[in-house]
Amino acid sequence: MLSYQHIYHAGNLADVHKHSLLAWMLDYLIRRDKPVSYIETHAGRALYDLSAEEAVKTGEADSGIVRARSWFSDDHPYIRSLRQTTELHGETAYPGSPLIAVQRLRHSDTITLAELHPTEHLNLELALPTATCRRTDGFAMAHSMLPPTPRRGLMLIDPSYEIKDDYQTIPGQIKKYARAWNVGTIVLWYPILTSGAHHSMLNSLENNHPDAFRHEVRFPPARPGHGMIGSGLFVIRPPFGLAGEAAKLKTRFDALS
Ligand code: SAM
Repeated sequence: MLSYQHIYHAGNLADVHKHSLLAWMLDYLIRRDKPVSYIETHAGRALYDLSAEEAVKTGEADSGIVRARSWFSDDHPYIRSLRQTTELHGETAYPGSPLIAVQRLRHSDTITLAELHPTEHLNLELALPTATCRRTDGFAMAHSMLPPTPRRGLMLIDPSYEIKDDYQTIPGQIKKYARAWNVGTIVLWYPILTSGAHHSMLNSLENNHPDAFRHEVRFPPARPGHGMIGSGLFVIRPPFGLAGEAAKLKTRFDALS
């Protein structure tokens, strides 16, 4: 039974980290004319209303995107997505990663998304009628479709880590994906936890993919005692220039603490 709903956390500092670097990577990918594939294994509902009861209850967007918007230039791809979203859906709308992909990519590109939760999946389909939105297990979907057509592209894996085994099983899954898709950029998001539950997963990932790019930012917990104190991205075959973009972003996060 899935209970995680991203609406409680949409626009928080982890989203700022993940979404701004995702938008930057997608813009990089489309600098060449050739079409690309975008795959997302854990899509969520794509469009969030930050004035919804759930979002207001946690207030995570206030200490997230509301504060961080000024960190980015007006022409940054993340800000272009935020602007496109609010112009179309109202001032309190916020784009999830699948919507950012639809906004940043072109008609010739292919977008395939998995979301297992029935309501989230329904909302995803309503928000993104042009994308392929499968109500299926994202890990299995990735296995079944790699390598994709077109072969160039990016896959985002953004689990909710509700199943504690995820930390043990993800490195093995990713090893298979990276072998099956030997030209694709593969991006895993993970939380930095006071419990250290993510450590062994990162050790395995780094052993399996010594050339990957790992980027972490820290921030104050959303609530006193909350276990998440940062956000991480593990990127296999990072686009050229990602390290520089990520380093700029990190200086902003460092200034928070
Ligand atoms: N990537 C989204 C974003 O940044 O806008 C947020 C996704 S949220 C962290 C994780 C989503 O994965 C939830 O909506 C949850 O219902 C869904 N989910 C959980 N297990 C899944 C699975 N095995 N396959 C596909 N979706 C799953």
